[in-house]
Amino acid sequence: MIITRRSFIAGAAALAAAGHTRLLAEGRKIRVGIVGGGIIGASTAVQLARAGAEVIVFEKEEPAAGATGASVAWINPVVNDAHYMKLRVESIDAWQEDDMLYGMGAIWGGSISWVNGEGNIAKLKAKADLIRETYEEPKLLNGPGITEACPVVFPGDEVSYAFQTRKDGHVDPVFATHRYLHIAERYGAKVIYPCEVTAIKVDKKGKFTSVATTKGDFDLDYLVSASGTATPHVVSLLGQKFELAHKPGLVVHTTPLPFETNKVFEDDGYIEFKQYYDGRVLTRFGSPPDLPQHAGIRDHEMAYPSQDLKEWHARHLISETAKIFPSVKDAEPAKILLGFRPYPLDNRPVIGPVPGVSNVFMVVTHSGITLAPILGRYMAHEIMTGQQADILAPYRPTRYISA
Ligand SMILES: Cc1cc2nc3c(=O)[nH]c(=O)nc-3n(C[C@H](O)[C@H](O)[C@H](O)COP(=O)(O)OP(=O)(O)OC[C@H]3O[C@@H](n4cnc5c(N)ncnc54)[C@H](O)[C@@H]3O)c2cc1C
Repeated sequence: MIITRRSFIAGAAALAAAGHTRLLAEGRKIRVGIVGGGIIGASTAVQLARAGAEVIVFEKEEPAAGATGASVAWINPVVNDAHYMKLRVESIDAWQEDDMLYGMGAIWGGSISWVNGEGNIAKLKAKADLIRETYEEPKLLNGPGITEACPVVFPGDEVSYAFQTRKDGHVDPVFATHRYLHIAERYGAKVIYPCEVTAIKVDKKGKFTSVATTKGDFDLDYLVSASGTATPHVVSLLGQKFELAHKPGLVVHTTPLPFETNKVFEDDGYIEFKQYYDGRVLTRFGSPPDLPQHAGIRDHEMAYPSQDLKEWHARHLISETAKIFPSVKDAEPAKILLGFRPYPLDNRPVIGPVPGVSNVFMVVTHSGITLAPILGRYMAHEIMTGQQADILAPYRPTRYISA
């Protein structure tokens, strides 16, 4: 059966309202374990618990300890692929609904993206065309037009193509994750941390039955892996191989400054920045500057190799941002983060049953902040009804894992 978009945004709420609490033959609620307390595990927990499942979230460190905590958390539709953009646009609708229902603290100020010189014009134009077709009419700007739209931002003389969108937003991803987990608990979910899932047990018929964790064993009917960059490890507990690309990013949060802007700014893939209503500015480099000191970071997940390098990053990032957004010139870093994106090899979400074990689901994606509300809804719907969502067909794990 096809799940339509309209039936979907209301998601598990519709399921719950219709009394679709799924019971097993023995008359009890289905028990679903979720590995990972990042934003995707948290959103999925809300939808499942709301639809009547007995939910336990296992988080090995603390909520938002992974990519979520280091994210820019820009909620946006922008990709070079109409199908994927449609999914993201659905998720923006779902975000607006969650923000209204649960108070997620999202800021809906839109965004401004630009490129400098000739290099990336075609790429940004293609994105503008897709936004026009799928989402909204982007407002085309030039350099002075950017400053007119936001009088505290000065992108310089090199801007060759720019556009503004009005519907995207951003969130504080740590606050949003805690908020989702709190709501899930209100619907009866349990959130256990620190608690690492160390083994996944499957019976002789190939059916998942229970997990072993650092807090004991738990019998479950379904398991969802929402374990971010640890997904290859979690999938290996089922004897399967799965790979992610390695994509580090550097993020700095400043101490609070006077509030200036509600938009997200993207300068030619080099810097992205935004500000929260409490005045903190978040700014990030897409990847670590090409220095020998970053060889380790570019190769594998790790903490900053030294305090000096960490502080150098913060100063460098703040001074590069100040060239465009001078208000941050004298800002102090409050948090200096090194994040690792859960990045599937084709940069598309991987969501659905793990081949070979139909009652273990996996969900791993970049842009997981944008996608968390819709992926949580689809995951809950598929588990609670057994129906497959057609829109997820291009994103199934079978493209990487065989049974
Ligand atoms: C620098 C940077 C910028 C980004 N910018 C954006 C953006 O602007 N917009 C956007 O949409 N996305 C962005 N992303 C991507 C987005 O942040 C991620 O896609 C999203 O946070 C993934 O969420 P998750 O819940 O899947 O994974 P995570 O947040 O990584 O959560 C996984 C959790 O699983 C836990 N875990 C792992 N193994 C186990 C185990 N065995 N047992 C128990 N728990 C376990 C981990 O501790 C972790 O907390 C960015 C990411 C980075 C790093």
